[in-house]
Amino acid sequence: MRLIESIAEMKSACRAATLAGKTLGLVPTMGALHEGHLSLVRESRAQCEVTAVSIFVNPLQFGPNEDLEKYPRSLERDYEMLRGLGADILFVPSVAEMYPPGAKTIVDVIDLSSKLDGGSRPGHFRGVATVVCKLFEIVRPDRAYFGQKDAAQVALLRKMARDLDLDVEIVVCTIVREADGLAMSSRNAYLNPQQRQQALVLSRSLQQITAAFAGGETDAGKLIEIGSRTIAVEPAAKLDYYVVVDPDTLEPRTQATRGTLVAVAAWVGTTRLIDNTVL
Ligand code: AMP
Repeated sequence: MRLIESIAEMKSACRAATLAGKTLGLVPTMGALHEGHLSLVRESRAQCEVTAVSIFVNPLQFGPNEDLEKYPRSLERDYEMLRGLGADILFVPSVAEMYPPGAKTIVDVIDLSSKLDGGSRPGHFRGVATVVCKLFEIVRPDRAYFGQKDAAQVALLRKMARDLDLDVEIVVCTIVREADGLAMSSRNAYLNPQQRQQALVLSRSLQQITAAFAGGETDAGKLIEIGSRTIAVEPAAKLDYYVVVDPDTLEPRTQATRGTLVAVAAWVGTTRLIDNTVL
């Protein structure tokens, strides 16, 4: 596996693969890899001849009081995991490489960028869209792999790719969970054992909504109430949002149908967790 830190070198390695007629897959990450990330890498390996993974803790997508400084970093371990999986290229640019002094351009998917996590984390999705747009241009992948875990991010990036005519297929992979249902996340590392248990209310509340929907309940308000009530049972959890929305526009739905996105964000202690399900 080739480790690349400079944009120029990354471009030439990726162009060489493309010129050689090889399909190129990109898996963008912020590192501290877990099985969720690895599932994307496996999918890319299965579908593409060359797989490039990026690890970049993108300051542009963190708010001023968020966890940029303490975000878990484990490059050596990540490197070994990716090498073991057979990834071909690992791109690890520095902040100065990605955002040299004077860089002024941002990508804003208007409307979508202020929905869901974008509402709670102003500027977050502008940071995501900007860095992913840059990565798409640096790598020019045939396919790029993202997790359904970040459902709003998927909607945002699909829209960005359409609006900017980007020549990339966005592949969305299912949420990988721990055995007890907790969606895997690098931020789960912040949870102490007690919080780790408390965090289960997110997936539990989604399961209850899924069961209610299967039982015939389609009223979005009632489904949200079922989910919110479950979160409220756990005093250590503080609800950020519970929404029933269209998976593409992220606009609220009053009636849920098959394919409707139900998404939740909640704080457990100082850790903000997200989870979702598609009905
Ligand atoms: P991150 O490093 O958190 O930016 O995540 C990088 C990619 O991995 C994103 O596309 C995430 O949606 C995806 N991802 C994170 N957690 C999971 C999970 N539990 N299951 C599937 N994909 C995930």
